[in-house]
Amino acid sequence: MAFLFGKMNVEEKIMAKVKLPVQKNQKITATIADLTYEGMGVAKVEGYPLFVQAALPGEEVVLHVLKTNKNYGFAKVVEWITKSPARVEGNGNAYTQTGIAPLQHLAYAEQLKFKRKLVVDLLKKAHLEDLEVAPTLGMSEPLHYRNKAQVPVRMVDGKLATGFFRKGSHKFVALKDFLIQDQRIDEVLQVCCEILQKHGISAYDEEKHQGTLRHLMVRRGYYSNEVLVVLVTRSAKLKDAQQIAQEIIATCPDVVGVLQNINSAKTNVILGEITQNLAGKNEIIDELNGLKFKISAQSFYQVNPIQTEKLYNLAIAQAGLSGQETVIDAYCGIGTISLNLAKHAKKVYGVEIVEQAIEDAKQNAKLNGLANLEFEVGNAEDWMATWQKQGIKPDVIVVDPPRKGLTESLITSATQMQPQKIVYVSCNPATLVRDLQSFMEKGYHVSAPLQPVDQFPQTAHVETVVLMSRVDK
Ligand code: SAH
Repeated sequence: MAFLFGKMNVEEKIMAKVKLPVQKNQKITATIADLTYEGMGVAKVEGYPLFVQAALPGEEVVLHVLKTNKNYGFAKVVEWITKSPARVEGNGNAYTQTGIAPLQHLAYAEQLKFKRKLVVDLLKKAHLEDLEVAPTLGMSEPLHYRNKAQVPVRMVDGKLATGFFRKGSHKFVALKDFLIQDQRIDEVLQVCCEILQKHGISAYDEEKHQGTLRHLMVRRGYYSNEVLVVLVTRSAKLKDAQQIAQEIIATCPDVVGVLQNINSAKTNVILGEITQNLAGKNEIIDELNGLKFKISAQSFYQVNPIQTEKLYNLAIAQAGLSGQETVIDAYCGIGTISLNLAKHAKKVYGVEIVEQAIEDAKQNAKLNGLANLEFEVGNAEDWMATWQKQGIKPDVIVVDPPRKGLTESLITSATQMQPQKIVYVSCNPATLVRDLQSFMEKGYHVSAPLQPVDQFPQTAHVETVVLMSRVDK
């Protein structure tokens, strides 16, 4: 026993001493009190939270406790005693279980309220409850919006099947209708499977690290309707590769290019480093607000084109440009926001850490005949400091950072350049609220209601645009 105890980790030792209000495998009746930021239901048992997939606030449920940690546990619903009026039935559990659409069981109007509340609650926690939050800007048809799919392929009953993994596991769930993807993408995926099947291509077997086809990636231009197909394979060898590519194009005339990406690593990362052309073009062209963008297999490109236009238009309107301004676009990707800003400003500087993205950004500027942009490869933080030293005086700074948000040093350099306005486009309200506090300490105030925008309907993600202005001294 002493030996066993010695092998326990700290958490288990504490658990052995503290009796929790629920035990693993116990069945209990509870009422769901809230939703987490990930969209899980929360039931509290004597103050101890249990996280429950697919359960909604107000629902009375019979729970089976799956796992208990020191401060929280997980449970699943075995029976609904009452259901929420906000529940949407009929799409099936797979979408919730796989994490494709973890909020699909919640009515869309309620999803929009939930996303606004996430922002409101975070502001309250930071004692910023005075800041106003506008209602979430949603979509009129919040399904089939994704312009990009990356789906695993596995062998099911001897056939190639597309699907998804269950959240937190490697259990494959076969699926053909992905609910939130452009439906033409779903069709092209099935055509690809049939053709690959006909040529006897096997699917990847993760456990044995054998088999050929790992993933299919498909991108589709919302306005151009051009489709790009990427076959992600375990090794360079793909039997009948050219013929397969030709057949895909012959069956789907909207496919403008078929590529092969090789990923031989034992990894969850989808794409490997080498991509080769099997037929047609290496990229598609799509439009946003009438501007053309070249999108290659690996480019970062917003996945919801309809909402992206709304998001960018909002950011541009908040920047309040007259044509005379100098603007910095930090975290610019392939220059989508930069080019939109450049139409309304004198000069735009963009910075982005991925070299290929900056190559694309420069080409995109040319493609649209815009000459008032300068793009730099590197860390936004370093470039902000460099521009500051060079004496560049931006009127507006736009930032669109990844989930981890901004650094103190970037905020310091940005505010020392004293732009009149800062527009913050955020994909993570938690880091947004943290960063707003820092801007406020450095002479800026939030000068319009925070605007959540629903870029990812049926999921728990929320994008927010915030306008800040310099406090006049
Ligand atoms: N504004 C673009 C991209 C936003 S996504 C658009 O709307 O399409 C965030 C971008 O920040 C990504 O392209 C990522 O490569 C880039 N990035 C991440 N860390 C960075 C850093 N430290 N410095 C500069 N760019 C960074």
